[in-house]
Amino acid sequence: METHTINRLHRNVTCTFCGLCCDDLTVQVDNGQLQVADSDCSLCRSGFEQSLPPVTALNRQPQIHGRTCSFDEAFTHAANLLRNSQYPLFGGLATDVAGARATLHLADRIGAMLDHMNSTAMLRNTLAIQDSGWMTTTLTEVRNRVDLLVVFGNATSRRTPRFYQRFFNNAESMFGQDTGQRELVLIGEHNTVDIPSGNRRITHLPCIPGQFGDVAMALRALVNDQPLQAESVAGIRKCELLELVRRLRDARYSVMTWNNAELDVPHAELTVQAICGLVRDLNATTRCSALPLGGSDSDYTFAQVSTWQTGFSTRFSLAAGKPHFDPVLFSAERLLSEQETDLLLWISAFDTRRTPPESGTDVIVLGRAGMQCDIPPRVFIPVATPGIDHSGNIFRCDTGVVLPLKPLRNTGLLPVSSVLQSITDHL
Ligand code: SF4
Repeated sequence: METHTINRLHRNVTCTFCGLCCDDLTVQVDNGQLQVADSDCSLCRSGFEQSLPPVTALNRQPQIHGRTCSFDEAFTHAANLLRNSQYPLFGGLATDVAGARATLHLADRIGAMLDHMNSTAMLRNTLAIQDSGWMTTTLTEVRNRVDLLVVFGNATSRRTPRFYQRFFNNAESMFGQDTGQRELVLIGEHNTVDIPSGNRRITHLPCIPGQFGDVAMALRALVNDQPLQAESVAGIRKCELLELVRRLRDARYSVMTWNNAELDVPHAELTVQAICGLVRDLNATTRCSALPLGGSDSDYTFAQVSTWQTGFSTRFSLAAGKPHFDPVLFSAERLLSEQETDLLLWISAFDTRRTPPESGTDVIVLGRAGMQCDIPPRVFIPVATPGIDHSGNIFRCDTGVVLPLKPLRNTGLLPVSSVLQSITDHL
């Protein structure tokens, strides 16, 4: 497959490598190699600047059992495997809007189970929404209105590197707010640094992630004028909690944020629910909103497309001809370890490191060109990356905005949606 590359500088490029989907990047393309010209965001640089293997490289070509083949042979072989599978599982699911739609179409056709690679983190939010709902805001609103930001967690700068720069420390806001007066409260472990630069008013309230829910519930009690008999909660003194409640009541537009990937504790959905309950209670007298941060490997995109088509964001089955959601039963990890699936279709179009989990199950991989699997899958089909090799759309983590993606180079690689359509045509 020939590579045709246009050497040029692309401006206002959208980044797909975390849920912020920054759309202000400048990317230089030279002979197919990309270089981010104006950002030191480590996530975006590693995503864009990953080397594209030469056209002759094994991991740039379709393979059956580790041997190169034509695309048509790969499509035929994949279709045969899918047709003969009794319990097919679609995992990974890291693709753009069109890829997600094609995935769901194929899954519906053959009755597959689906589980995104980030489901464990995604479900921490989903279960809270399903149970009691939430009141959220958008990144744009935060950038223009927030006066008090409360962050549960300490990895915001690592997982969404430009969040503070773009949405909190922005010099200007639409409504003339003096953004230098914004206040930041960090609830978490601060020995690993997640402190934005700039002379902002920052309050640290140290506690471990497993106790974020306790802190949120204590704040909720105080907001509702309930007695709090303890003198401290999760190591935070009662007077500090009361002071935070006072500031939240006085704020004109406070926002509470967290990253579901950080809440790696048992029943983390209860922590999310506690934070969302606190937000809801504050709205009895003032304004406060939740802002779920995070996102990688287009998890928010798959969740949005899947929810509008099936009612569920992840971990469901279409085997019975209608969606059946079960966050335990349809866990890919469980299905593979219990050998309750006989075929895994793994889709990972953004990150070559997100390879399929090891299992004794037959695997079809649609992977970003350059992906190297430890064990050659039954079928490997290299795919194009949205926003680099082809156009597309992706959802931001606030889910209110869909960003268009532009191709930056012409590699001849096929998007996930085209590959899945071809496989479907061969069924
Ligand atoms: S913060 Fe996220 S979206 Fe923005 S440039 Fe970095 S990785 Fe990309």
